[in-house]
Amino acid sequence: MDFLKKLGIEGTNPGTSTGQKFYGSGAKEKLSSYTPIDNTQIADTTITTREEYDKVVETAQKAFKEWRMVPAPKRGDIVRQIGLELREHKEDLGRLVTYEMGKIYQEGLGEVQEMIDICDFAVGQSRMLYGKTMQSERPRHRMYEQWHPLGITGIISAFNFPVAVYSWNAMIAAICGNVMIWKGSEKTPLCGIAVQNIIAKVLKRNDLPEGIFNLITGDREVGEWMTEDERIPLISATGSIRMGREVAKTVGARLGKTILELGGNNAIIVSKDADLEMAARAIAFGSVGTCGQRCTSTRRLIIHEEVFDQLKERLVEIYKDVNIGNPLDEDTLVGPLIDQDAVNSMQFALNELKKQGGEVVYGGEKLDDNHLEGNNYVRPAIVTAKNEWDIVQEETFAPILYLIKYRDFDEAIAKHNGVKQGLSSSVFTLNLREAETFLSARGSDCGIANVNVGTSGAEIGGAFGGEKDTGGGRESGSDAWKAYMRRQTNTINWSDELPLAQGIEFEV
Ligand code: NAD
Repeated sequence: MDFLKKLGIEGTNPGTSTGQKFYGSGAKEKLSSYTPIDNTQIADTTITTREEYDKVVETAQKAFKEWRMVPAPKRGDIVRQIGLELREHKEDLGRLVTYEMGKIYQEGLGEVQEMIDICDFAVGQSRMLYGKTMQSERPRHRMYEQWHPLGITGIISAFNFPVAVYSWNAMIAAICGNVMIWKGSEKTPLCGIAVQNIIAKVLKRNDLPEGIFNLITGDREVGEWMTEDERIPLISATGSIRMGREVAKTVGARLGKTILELGGNNAIIVSKDADLEMAARAIAFGSVGTCGQRCTSTRRLIIHEEVFDQLKERLVEIYKDVNIGNPLDEDTLVGPLIDQDAVNSMQFALNELKKQGGEVVYGGEKLDDNHLEGNNYVRPAIVTAKNEWDIVQEETFAPILYLIKYRDFDEAIAKHNGVKQGLSSSVFTLNLREAETFLSARGSDCGIANVNVGTSGAEIGGAFGGEKDTGGGRESGSDAWKAYMRRQTNTINWSDELPLAQGIEFEV
């Protein structure tokens, strides 16, 4: 386990940090991290105490006063250096992501690459925090808007992207002049420690104060301290819809801001005019990749009746060839689910489906061969289903692909949009009218809509997020940076009179 050592991870790791300083070595409460590969324990992390939490917030508040006055391109330079440091640690951190979360090593590396990409993006963005200038209706007046940082950005993240989601938020928030407090998932605490250790090297080299990049560790209780805390103006929360509802309620009650990135129930429409082989490959990556544990995983396939059987057979052929096993092995395509709860919820969903009349066309079983220790391995399932069934309406965070038939394109769109979630969506078609309809106002109602590209694997350049129960938040590229700033409209009078807007006369 050389990579753990290189990432600064040992037996018990202090789980609270204000940058270079780590706290909690004496804390009694610990969070143990187990690899889903074979359920062995990797290491411990101490849980942030309420006292430590308050210290972190106070340190962050203090750091904000300095950090907000550092010119944005200079903040960008710190992020540039974090990107370079991540390049140095890409293999080790990618391996830890695989070891602690269970996604295959290629995807672990991909996640770290996403961190590097967002650093590069944020460096450029740091010179482009543009505001508009407006024409004033009053003579010799100038109007413009500018963007200021908010203060502390609280980041709560999910287990399935234990490092990338943090960096989408933190690197953009940082160039905007905010300071960050990150609570990762209680299922992947070591990823947080490793990232914090990497960032600490840059902070040290640049002699930066404590309190800019902060880490806290714990479960939802620690998350609730953040959502209730008026000292944190913005909470960016990634996770289940259940969690999002709670976060929205708590932060909303104190009129704080949120960015919510919640569950998806993503579909691909496969037209009779699709390149079926291309569609099949995109579907396979989207449905079995990360063992069905991506927010953008392909869960529903809405297939034209004329190509339904052909595509079903092709998918079964592909699924039969998928190597399931230790995610650190190079030829593995599907690793384990995160834990036993995930295995059980997959089995529950398949049973519900059968009760409704669905047919398991392929897979679905638990795999407990000797070489797959840990009982977290499953064979990805292909099932026939109806869109309106309750279980199809839910996001089961496991590799279950629902096959649903359609006859005409409007019906396909109605089925596609006929769920509560609205994250990622695709159509596979070579028919221009279908493609454009799908992307039009009467097409997909999702935050992400693709043509001849699967639902999974977004690039960081676009704004990422979804509508409806997915929460409406946007992160990463495009103008997502604006959510981490407050807009200020300024009017300057350089005349020697005081005209009022709307021509109002008010003589005093
Ligand atoms: P989860 O909701 O169980 O936990 C997510 C995080 O929220 C954890 O850090 C947890 O400790 C914290 N939390 C839970 N309840 C809280 C509360 N009441 N207040 C404050 N914090 C709370 O989710 P998970 O199982 O870790 O992740 C899987 C889910 O995340 C799936 O639904 C998936 O679709 C979603 N997800 C969405 C995106 C996206 O960008 N839309 C990305 C990744 C994952």
